[in-house]
Amino acid sequence: MSGFLLEGKDLTKEFPAGGNKTVHAVSNVSLGLNEGETLGLVGESGCGKSTLGRMMIRALKPTSGEVFFRGRSLTAMSDREFAAVRRRFQMIFQDPYASLNPRMTVRSLIAEPLETHRICSGKKETTEKVLELMDAVGVPGDFLYRYPHQFSGGQRQRIGIARAIAQSPEVIVCDEPVSALDVSVRNQILNLLSDLRKTRGLTYLFISHDLSVVRHISDRVCVMFLGKICESGPTEEIWSSPAHPYTSFLLRAVPKADPKRRTDASALLTGEIPSPIDPPAGCRFHTRCPYAGKICAQEEPPLRTWGERTVACHFPLNR
Ligand code: SF4
Repeated sequence: MSGFLLEGKDLTKEFPAGGNKTVHAVSNVSLGLNEGETLGLVGESGCGKSTLGRMMIRALKPTSGEVFFRGRSLTAMSDREFAAVRRRFQMIFQDPYASLNPRMTVRSLIAEPLETHRICSGKKETTEKVLELMDAVGVPGDFLYRYPHQFSGGQRQRIGIARAIAQSPEVIVCDEPVSALDVSVRNQILNLLSDLRKTRGLTYLFISHDLSVVRHISDRVCVMFLGKICESGPTEEIWSSPAHPYTSFLLRAVPKADPKRRTDASALLTGEIPSPIDPPAGCRFHTRCPYAGKICAQEEPPLRTWGERTVACHFPLNR
C-alpha cells in the first residue's frame, strides 16, 4: 500500500470532440492525498484540473487508470459497493448560487443530505443538526428559513460548505471555491476551510487557477499544464524555487508586492498556444517555453524526483 488516503494512478480522460477528434483532457496523471492535508491543484483554465478532481472521487469515470481510497479501488467497485462509501467524498463548487436550489430555505438545503442518508432521526434532531452546521460555518441560526437570494456570495458559499460537511466526509474536492468572491471574503472562506479541516479531520483537494490562493491554504501543490502534472512538492518550496518553467511563469503572474494585481500567465508567454485536441509531442509546454531545446519537441520529459519534489522537465530551473 502507498500510504495515501486517496490515490489516482495513471488517470486519463478523453472526450469526443466531434468528427474523429478527441479532447485529451487528462493524460496519465498520478497523484496522492495524505490524510489530513490540503493538496493544491493549480493551472490555467482548461488544463484538466476539474476533470482530474472529479475522477478522484468517482464523480467522473476515467477513460483509463484507477483510483484507490484507503487501498481499495474506487474505480473497480460496483455501484452498490460505491454507494456505501459515496458520502466519504464531497465537492464544493465555484458558484454556490448555481448549486443551491433557489426555492429551498437554508434549513431544507442543509437538511437534504442529512435526510438522504438518514443521518438524523426525526425533524427535531435534523433541525438541531442543521443549526449546529450553520454555527460551524458562521451562518447565524436566525437565518434558518431564509432563501439563497437573501444571502451574499460569501454566505452562500458558507451554506454550500455546510451541505458538504453534513455527511461527515473524509475528502472534499474544492473546485475554485473562492474564485467568485471578493478578496476580503475570499480570505474568510479560506480560513474557514482551514479551521474545518483541523477540527473535522478533513482532507482537501483544492483546485484553483490562482497560485496565491493555493499558497494560502495548501500543504503541497501540483501544477498542471494541458492535462499533465508538470511539477509537485511542498508549497513553500515550489514558491521559493520553482523547477518547471511553467510554474515559474505562473508565479511571475502573481507579483509578490501586490497579489491582487495578478497578470494572466498566458500574457507573459509567447509562442503557439497548444490545444488539448492535438497536444504537442514531447513536452506539452515546448511551443511556449523559452528554455526549450531540441529534445523537448521529441521526447516527453521523465518525472524527476528529489526529496518531496517532482518535476517533468528536461532542463529544470533552480537545480
Ligand atoms: Fe521547457 Fe523543455 Fe522543460 Fe518542457 S522539457 S518545460 S520545453 S525546458
